[in-house]
Amino acid sequence: MTILVTGGAGYIGSHTCVELLNNGYKLVVLDKLINSKLESINRVKKITGKDFIFEHIDLLDKKALERIFSDHKIDAVVHFAGLKAVGESVIKPLDYYRNNVTGTIVLCEVMQQFDVKNLVVSSSATVYGTAKQMPISEDAPLGVTNPYGRTKLMVEEILRDIYTSDNNWSIALLRYFNPFGAHKSGQIGEDPNGMPNNLTTYITQVGIGRLNEVRIFGNDYPTKDGTGIRDYIHIIDLAKGHLKALNNVLNSNGIEAYNLGTGRGYSVLEVIKTFEKTAGISIPYKVVGRRPGDVAVSYADPSKAKRELGWEAEKNLEEMCRDSWNWQKDNLYGYLNKK
Ligand code: NAD
Ligand code: UDP
Repeated sequence: MTILVTGGAGYIGSHTCVELLNNGYKLVVLDKLINSKLESINRVKKITGKDFIFEHIDLLDKKALERIFSDHKIDAVVHFAGLKAVGESVIKPLDYYRNNVTGTIVLCEVMQQFDVKNLVVSSSATVYGTAKQMPISEDAPLGVTNPYGRTKLMVEEILRDIYTSDNNWSIALLRYFNPFGAHKSGQIGEDPNGMPNNLTTYITQVGIGRLNEVRIFGNDYPTKDGTGIRDYIHIIDLAKGHLKALNNVLNSNGIEAYNLGTGRGYSVLEVIKTFEKTAGISIPYKVVGRRPGDVAVSYADPSKAKRELGWEAEKNLEEMCRDSWNWQKDNLYGYLNKK
């Protein structure tokens, strides 16, 4: 069984490639390397001891994509390629619509052309916007607050229309909560280009001294300690969710959304404290104003994925902190690895 992985050099993609290879799938991976490095591909090969084809191409390059589909008999696609920085999406909305929405359309056109209709797609908990009820289940109302979120919602809607037009498609929309952690080898992990946007990457980079202190965006939320609450999920649990979703997609038709989260929320302060304890270091922080667009609380009801995919998260926050730190302290400059 050969799987095309788009955006497979990135954070979630590289960890998912390890799980796919370890479970006997053959891979063709494509990535434009705009937020990742070729070294992550080398390390995935090293960790698994398995080789695969890597194509350094842009998903929007339809000719190149057609060549990949005619060179290999692709059975399914796991689609990660996309831009993901909320703030940047407000400044450059066209880049986001073009890359995330047009990119997915080009992919689906080529899949249709080659009669490949099995697809696992990265969506996001951001499609729930400001959810009124916790935990959030898949049938909660959808609503988005920024261009990035809108690209994810548009992609979900486009894929639903494609399925309505042709019931031979089989599509899983995976709504991720907050991925954290790294592979236990410490060989692969999150390595964003430029300044980190998310809390967990910020903490690890403060940990190694690349950044001075964590800014806590608000301590006046209606939560137990006033800081925002999120559902952090270990990257390996998340990667395994893709394996289960792929299995389901290969054995059925339909389109379904699944939350991939733990069902448990932690505050910003709890994450910082747990990280300090696990890594045995101190993480300086200061409280600043709220970040516009942030919600107070967000955590998943992951029961649908358990029921229908047989998947549930197994790792806890300590393991996320430990594995992230293990990766970051040995790779101070990420894949550039300047010590
Ligand atoms: P990432 O930036 O590490 O990986 C995305 C990869 O896609 C990168 O390697 C990038 O080079 C590649 N890419 C982007 N546009 C491309 C294009 N046009 N052609 C080819 N390659 C392209 O991000 P990630 O955290 O691994 O996220 C993967 C997916 O999951 C994204 O779609 C993202 O929106 C989604 N997601 C991520 C999070 C998160 O917190 N990390 C949460 C929810 C959803
Ligand atoms: N956060 C923070 N400081 C940062 C980044 C994030 O206090 O430098 C908070 C943010 O307000 C939210 C939580 O950490 O409550 C998770 O934010 P992140 O950007 O990691 O993920 P999001 O849930 O917004 O996608």
